[in-house]
Amino acid sequence: MIDPPSNIQKMHPISSRQHLLFDADDTLWENNIYFDQAFADFVAFLNHEHLATAEIQAVMDELQIANRATHGYGARSFARSLRGTFQHIAGVPDDDPDLETVERMGLRILDQQFEIMDGVLATIDALRPHHDLMMVTKGHLEEQQLKVERSGIEQHFDSVVIVDEKDEHIYRSIVDSLDLDPRLTWMIGNSPRSDINPAIRAGINAIYIPHPRTWHLEVEEVEETHDPAAILLHLSRFSDLTALFVPGGRESSPAQSERTG
Ligand SMILES: [Mg+2]
Repeated sequence: MIDPPSNIQKMHPISSRQHLLFDADDTLWENNIYFDQAFADFVAFLNHEHLATAEIQAVMDELQIANRATHGYGARSFARSLRGTFQHIAGVPDDDPDLETVERMGLRILDQQFEIMDGVLATIDALRPHHDLMMVTKGHLEEQQLKVERSGIEQHFDSVVIVDEKDEHIYRSIVDSLDLDPRLTWMIGNSPRSDINPAIRAGINAIYIPHPRTWHLEVEEVEETHDPAAILLHLSRFSDLTALFVPGGRESSPAQSERTG
C-alpha cells in the first residue's frame, strides 16, 4: 500500500474547499492513556498470584466487547467491565466492597483533565479558513458531549457529530444527509477500525494518523482502497495536515507520509 513519501508533494496544495471530518479521541485529545492507567491500577489492586496481565486483559476484553454491544463505549461501560473482570477472577459475591473500589477506578476517567494533543489547535486554526471542519466522534452521548465541552475546542469546528458507532453506514449517512461530495470529503483519525476502514468502504477519502497508545480493540489492518478516485494517506503527525490542505503550508511539509489509492 506504500508509495514513496514524495507522493504527498505531488498532490498538494489542495486549494478547493474540502469537508474534513475529524475523529476526536486520540486524534484531537488524549484519551486511551487514561483507560490504560486505570487498567494498570486495576491489575495492581487485583494483585493476582499467578494470572499474567495478558490473561487478565483477555477476560476484560471479552467483557468490554459484550458491554459495548449493550452499553456502548466510554468510562461507565469500562468501569462496568472492570467490575465484571474482578468478580469473574476473584469470584467474590455481588456485595463485595472491592467491586465498588474497582468500579471507581474506571469512573475516575470521567473527571480526567483534558489534554489536547501537540499541534492540534494551531493546525485546526490554519485549516479553518479554507475548509469545512466537522468533529465526528463516537461514544456514550452524554459522556462524549461532556468531553467535547471540556476540550474547549468545539468552537473551532463548524459542527460536531456524536455517534454510537462508526461504521460504513454512518459515513454514508453523513455524506448523504449533508449532501457532501465524497471526492471532497476526508475522514481523519487514529483508529483503523472506526475511522479509516469504514470511511474507505463508504467511498470517502481517509487520512490515518496513528497514535502509539490506540486502544488495542480499535487496531486492525488498514484496508486498501479499491476505488481509484478515493485517496488513503498515512501521516505521522497531525500538523502534517497543514502541508496538505493549507495553501502555502508546504513549509511545514511532513517528514513521512504514504499514499495509496
Ligand atoms: Mg480515536
